[in-house]
Amino acid sequence: MAAFAEVAVSLPMDRTFHYSVPQNLSETISVGKRVFVPFLNRAIVGYVVGLCDEADVKNVKAIISVIDREPVLTEEMLKLTRWVKDNYFCSWGEAIAAVIPAGIKKGKEAIGSRLKSADYENEKFPQSTPHDLVEEQSRALKSVIESVDKHEHKTYLLHGITSSGKTEVYLQAIDHVLKSGGQAIMLVPEISLTPQTIERFSSRFGDHVAVIHSRLTAAKKFLEWKRIKDGKANIVVGARSAIFAPVKKLGVVIIDEEHETSYKQDDVPRYHARDVAEERARLNNCPLILGSATPSLESYYKAKAGVYRMIKLTKRIDERLLPKVKIVDMRMELASRRRIEVFSKVLLDAVANTLTAGKQAMIFLNRRGFSTFVNCKKCGFVVKCKRCDTVLVYHFETKKLICHYCNYTTNAPDICPSCKSSYIKYLGLGTEKVESEMSHSFPHAKIARMDSDTTAKRGSHDRILGDFKTGKANLLVGTQMIAKGHDFPLVTLVGVVSADVSLNIPDFRASERTFNLLTQVGGRAGRGEDGGEVVIQTDTPGHYAILAAAKHDYDKFYSEEIKSRKELLYPPFINLVKVTVRARNDQFAAQTAMELQEAIKLADPEMLIAGPSPAPILRMRGYYRYNIMLKHKDRLAMCALLKKVLNSFRKPHGILIAVDVDPVAM
Ligand code: ADP
Ligand code: ZN
Ligand code: ZN
Repeated sequence: MAAFAEVAVSLPMDRTFHYSVPQNLSETISVGKRVFVPFLNRAIVGYVVGLCDEADVKNVKAIISVIDREPVLTEEMLKLTRWVKDNYFCSWGEAIAAVIPAGIKKGKEAIGSRLKSADYENEKFPQSTPHDLVEEQSRALKSVIESVDKHEHKTYLLHGITSSGKTEVYLQAIDHVLKSGGQAIMLVPEISLTPQTIERFSSRFGDHVAVIHSRLTAAKKFLEWKRIKDGKANIVVGARSAIFAPVKKLGVVIIDEEHETSYKQDDVPRYHARDVAEERARLNNCPLILGSATPSLESYYKAKAGVYRMIKLTKRIDERLLPKVKIVDMRMELASRRRIEVFSKVLLDAVANTLTAGKQAMIFLNRRGFSTFVNCKKCGFVVKCKRCDTVLVYHFETKKLICHYCNYTTNAPDICPSCKSSYIKYLGLGTEKVESEMSHSFPHAKIARMDSDTTAKRGSHDRILGDFKTGKANLLVGTQMIAKGHDFPLVTLVGVVSADVSLNIPDFRASERTFNLLTQVGGRAGRGEDGGEVVIQTDTPGHYAILAAAKHDYDKFYSEEIKSRKELLYPPFINLVKVTVRARNDQFAAQTAMELQEAIKLADPEMLIAGPSPAPILRMRGYYRYNIMLKHKDRLAMCALLKKVLNSFRKPHGILIAVDVDPVAM
């Protein structure tokens, strides 16, 4: 019997702690269980990661109690969380805390007894049957199945245009895994976890499906986790965190829309689910399938280099044509008119024709609110956020000004706060304004709007989509929420109000984002019998991301983009680590960032370092932020070095330091 336990705690300390195991607990303690341990005069929850006969220090304290009857963490999960700790700059305990449901984190076990019966009910769907695969699909499935049967880890990049039948390949791959006694994890972006998506899986596999996403109540989340752990659900469909689902016989992992940035967690532990999936598939000797119509540059690069196996689906299932895309140069539109207009004549005509023909249109703008800034015509004053270097966005429905970064909310002024004049102007453009302008131009159209303002209430998301599907609305205005895989056969027109919103973000991935978004929204046009049309309004009609999206040409986009990545030395050619230094005082933050940069340079003179430079939005929630960017070929080596530097760095009081490995936003 072990005399000591090695315990990880969910605190930002890069080490584990030894505790002695009292006689009365020696029977019940085991690796993977949670325990209460004394820590700085408090009792906190810890995770037993090892048992040993000797302690690392002399005076160890004793474990207070063992929480679990059954381990909550398997051997595999311990390995995986350790990998997360090594790669994403967090402590082992923090990584573990991320993989178990919030409901049991606080140290309670019997949460199951408090569940209401309604929590148990999963919807029932009519059974659906597999399609006979077309040739490209068959070939894709065959490769994957081979890896499943051979129990080999391989990563496949399934590059297929929208409606080329990727999901059907996933479904049949999962089916094969289930029949050979295995289990599957299927990740989809949070925003795509709609009832329609869940229905596709549930109607094929029935009760075997567990669904995990952030809108579930803690109790329901725990219940799904338990069903998976007990082997009652064999397929996990979920967002990012579902990659940690406690399945025991993993036979395949699938990530749909693998390019989505929502697979990156923006809080500790800042892991990327795609990379965790690769590690997990490796640990389980099973294939990983990454699917996308617009793969990330990282994945496509690896596939071209032979690190991943590339599989292509080049044809749409029903041979439907891709929509015709028109690019409208808004600079020309402006020159030819006196008043600044939101919509070009091309777009207005297209909407008119669509509505007259009894069809539907989607109008896309990736910015919510009414006016994006409020400005005094007399003195030039712009209403800004109190806590951030951002301008406040006017929301017409609530008559409020809101900061889109920190949610600071204030009343819209009638007179200028600075010069007291009443020449207040509302400028710029969000989805609310698009909706109102559309209703001016088309008074008889039935318009619905979908963005995070209109979908804040439970059920509103489904209601809006339902209204559009049944024809209660024939014009849908929205943010990127409308860009995802909804199938609306009557939509023949997609209008993009401004392609420049995402293109102008100060981020080396801005072009990639724009290409992805345009391709995706464009894919919504012409899903039914009638061919589709897309109108893209832009101030930069010559940009390769826009031109390539208009031609549905991924390879063209890739070849342009990869050149600039290589030239500027960005991923996939190196790994990035972003170190952010924050403080309430600007000077203090800048100074400390400089000192940290020097310490890193001293530790490794070869390290490529950019900055410190002010974050694109310098002040956020009252903190001034400076970024240091590190570039390196080897992520692990870079993390190890940075850990060493930070451990010996004398961080002044009032300074916060955050480390983001492979950041998806600058
Ligand atoms: P993707 O995931 O690439 O967008 P889907 O798998 O959703 O494509 O397929 C698009 C549509 O075609 C779906 O309605 C699907 O049911 C149907 N489909 C897929 N494969 C086949 C097939 N082999 N035969 C007939 N219909 C198919
Ligand atoms: Zn703010
Ligand atoms: Zn003024």
